[in-house]
Amino acid sequence: MQMEPSIERNEVNATPSLFDLLVIGGGINGVGIARDAAGRGLSVYLVEQDDLASHTSSAATKLIHGGLRYLEYYEFRLVREALLERERLLGIAPHIIWPMRFVLPHVPALRPRWLLRLGLFVYDHIGARKRLPSSKSVRLRHRPLGQPLQEHLRHGFMYSDCWVQDSRLVVLNAMDAAARGAKIFTRTRLISATQQGDRWLAVCEDTRTGKRRQFLPRAIVNAAGAWVGDVVKQRLNASSRKHVRLIKGSHIIVPRIYDGEHAYFLQNPDGRIEFVIPYEQHYTLIGTTDIPFSGDPSEVRISPEEVDYLCASVNRYFKKQLAPADVVWNYAGVRPLYDDDATSAAAVTRDYELELTGGDGTPILLSVFGGKITTYRKLAEHALEKLQSLIDNSARPWTDTEPLPGGDIPASRHPDEDFERFVAHTQSRWPFLPPATTRRLARAYGTCVAHILGGSKSLTELGDDFGGGLSQNEVDYLCDKEWATTAEDILWRRTKMGLHVPPDTADKLTAYLSQRTARP
Ligand SMILES: Cc1cc2nc3c(=O)[nH]c(=O)nc-3n(C[C@H](O)[C@H](O)[C@H](O)COP(=O)(O)OP(=O)(O)OC[C@H]3O[C@@H](n4cnc5c(N)ncnc54)[C@H](O)[C@@H]3O)c2cc1C
Repeated sequence: MQMEPSIERNEVNATPSLFDLLVIGGGINGVGIARDAAGRGLSVYLVEQDDLASHTSSAATKLIHGGLRYLEYYEFRLVREALLERERLLGIAPHIIWPMRFVLPHVPALRPRWLLRLGLFVYDHIGARKRLPSSKSVRLRHRPLGQPLQEHLRHGFMYSDCWVQDSRLVVLNAMDAAARGAKIFTRTRLISATQQGDRWLAVCEDTRTGKRRQFLPRAIVNAAGAWVGDVVKQRLNASSRKHVRLIKGSHIIVPRIYDGEHAYFLQNPDGRIEFVIPYEQHYTLIGTTDIPFSGDPSEVRISPEEVDYLCASVNRYFKKQLAPADVVWNYAGVRPLYDDDATSAAAVTRDYELELTGGDGTPILLSVFGGKITTYRKLAEHALEKLQSLIDNSARPWTDTEPLPGGDIPASRHPDEDFERFVAHTQSRWPFLPPATTRRLARAYGTCVAHILGGSKSLTELGDDFGGGLSQNEVDYLCDKEWATTAEDILWRRTKMGLHVPPDTADKLTAYLSQRTARP
């Protein structure tokens, strides 16, 4: 492991820092690799040009899943790996990940019942499922599960997957990487990297101040998601045999359209599928679409046609009929899928590929193509496996059981019960909290909630309320420990409080954050 003197942010470094890995990209794959590498004793720097999780990793459907529909494309390796990861991730982050039951209504004109049953049987059995319940047939007519659905839907199936607060998963990985020695720089872009002996001379720029700094890593990990090709070509002046195919996916959020904590899996007549998921207590999340995308990935937006498509999917199944005017929020993202020459956007593989070049006296480059949130931890293990022999490190894989920050909640066979016990414990320790706030804080921060609430005995001791129970203590914690610097970081990525606070909260937060930065 290389040692290097610590350099404060914004100082122009005359002597470039020498270390093992420079990770480009603060999405889930970049932070996952940074955490794994730091835990193996490597010296790691990570640069993210915007905020952590500001692109694809906060725009997902947020399922930790094997991907039932990928079975139709015979992606058995991917589905098995993802299902194994599902229970591992639930184990290391039981606060931000939770089990969810999915109702799949059977429509006789679409996939036959035997095919759904077979798919679910395989799904139940290829992934060493231990803590999640198995699938089963369900009657929908005159039953609570079918109550919000149209009368013609009589039968269906129910199966298990998990759900994750995606941008928090990114931040928790970054926090743990930092706790193990990694240096995380947000709003810092890789401008260029050139070969200098067996190292890269990398130049990075602070996107707010324009200040540049140089690094001398032994290896670069290119986890730039939709920009992976840009980093290879424009920043490193290199070439690659692999490519990504950019596929846009959008979601809409509407006021809650049914009661219950289960989700629905809907089949569309064009063969695509949609998820309808309970979201942020008062809302329903609906998505997603699959549209080929070209252009700047940071400019991706939902189109009116996608809104219509998503409303129509729901309207085919639910009694409640949606119109675009019901949409209270939406988001869109670009999937950087590994290009396997598939004919349709929905058929492109969701598996990942790693490309390694260099070694033997030349600087090392490892680029990540594709992947899913669900498989990020395993992807990081594979990345480290490839890098280790070249960097002279033989530490063992370690991330499969080590909790992410706040995830050290005692586990039994019943994940829901474990979390409910933790919520009850949190409420009894800080009885002045409104129950909805206790639950929100427990979900977002797990056992790290103690760093926000500390020894406080009343709501006023948590400082100003910016709206909806977002306290000054929480905002300070997000700035000090989670790299939040703007109102948007806080309202839409570290939390989803943007959906719950009054319109003036963003301005109040912005004023508070600028006063906070100006403090001596
Ligand atoms: C609509 C949709 C639904 C999805 N649903 C699911 C799901 O339910 N479950 C699931 O498991 N997966 C899902 N996915 C897939 C998953 O979201 C992605 O695979 C994953 O987030 C990709 O992460 P990443 O780290 O590769 O990319 P990103 O999150 O995009 O991170 C790459 C980062 O690199 C940064 N960067 C780029 N260039 C530079 C540079 N020069 N310098 C510094 N930083 C740079 C970017 O700013 C970006 O933040 C979905 C994806 C989409 C789009």
